[in-house]
Amino acid sequence: MRDVLNAGLIDFLKASPTPFHATASLALRLEAAGYQRLDERESWSVVSGGRYYVTRNDSSIIAIKMGRQAPLLNGIRMVGAHTDSPCLRVKPQPELQRQGFLQLGVEVYGGALLAPWFDRDLSLAGRVTYRRDGKVESQLIDFKLPIAVIPNLAIHLNRTANDGWHINPQTELPPILAQVAGDERIDFRALLTEQLAREHQLNADVVLDYELSFYDTQDAAQIGLNGDFIAGARLDNLLSCYAGLQALLAADSDETCILVCNDHEEVGSSSACGADGPMLEQTLQRLLPDGDAYVRTIQRSLMVSADNAHGVHPNYADKHDGNHGPKLNAGPVIKVNNNQRYATNSETAGFFRHLCMAEEVPVQSFVVRSDMGCGSTIGPIAASHLGVRTVDIGLPTFAMHSIRELCGSHDLAHLVKVLTAFYRSHDLP
Ligand SMILES: [Zn+2]
Repeated sequence: MRDVLNAGLIDFLKASPTPFHATASLALRLEAAGYQRLDERESWSVVSGGRYYVTRNDSSIIAIKMGRQAPLLNGIRMVGAHTDSPCLRVKPQPELQRQGFLQLGVEVYGGALLAPWFDRDLSLAGRVTYRRDGKVESQLIDFKLPIAVIPNLAIHLNRTANDGWHINPQTELPPILAQVAGDERIDFRALLTEQLAREHQLNADVVLDYELSFYDTQDAAQIGLNGDFIAGARLDNLLSCYAGLQALLAADSDETCILVCNDHEEVGSSSACGADGPMLEQTLQRLLPDGDAYVRTIQRSLMVSADNAHGVHPNYADKHDGNHGPKLNAGPVIKVNNNQRYATNSETAGFFRHLCMAEEVPVQSFVVRSDMGCGSTIGPIAASHLGVRTVDIGLPTFAMHSIRELCGSHDLAHLVKVLTAFYRSHDLP
């Protein structure tokens, strides 16, 4: 089972270089399992026992498994995660021609670790909006091939590179795509028109706009002498999206279950499709009765907000509180922050711990060092919007926000097992 899940995760990461592609990958897998697409612009007729999904901005998705009994009786089991990851996004007028090279200007999306972006074989993917036959349409594209690179500066020209090196994102990050002759000008939008023709066999009159990210073409892989690790891009937080999906598909219960995967977590969640926007609340309002019954249902519900945790790195063990250092391959981590950077409370943490014990899944705890600041997740945002009880959990990883992150190869199976038990659980506290 563990190997099947890990192989599935590696495939999912490859198919999901951007939040748009991650949403499409999730939708594809949901449709294969009989989930029907709901259109936010149309009226919905949702029946008990039905399976549905809805997307917004092509980059956030909510999967819904309606229970056989009314959700009012027993609440809703929700798992939340995010589809976006820090990366380099192409600017609107990106062409730079310097020293005979075609380069593209980029904007850093989210809190990326920048140094690992150098010397990687990069490709480009995302959403393109174009005009065809007088209509404005959008499509996802993925160049797939390594078409760009950001070469390092030789150490001979930067002798202090290993002493800490400030990277200027404006001047040092534009990837190189090609060498160009003399006064030849390259129009980036024309390249996108060609890619639309190649990938989708469509002839766009003109590319109007785009949201495109560079990504590393090296596939995720199981690595280590004994295969203990999975290395790959975007484990934060496609690892949790994939675990939530697998749990939802495995949970053959009578309960109403939801998986919500939002875009824009890495930049604060404040957008129409982000967790700080109204997407989940509006979806629930359409699924549940109004007023009194709506509030009663939410108050009987529980959300597990799944996002990766920081495992103890052997070279930097002092970055953790000595009693709260999660180990890779030692199970999911309950994340606690009394200042509400995480939404976990004793009741929700206790319930998650109870599920782990019942499933014989190891479980760990994380609290940040008292002299360091704490990250956050969609958990407190969803909790404060809906008023739903929430626990923040996640799998321990290294190198969060690098272009290649690392998790334990035993942990995905642990997380899927406990999330499946959560979706199946008849009694919430
Ligand atoms: Zn994250």
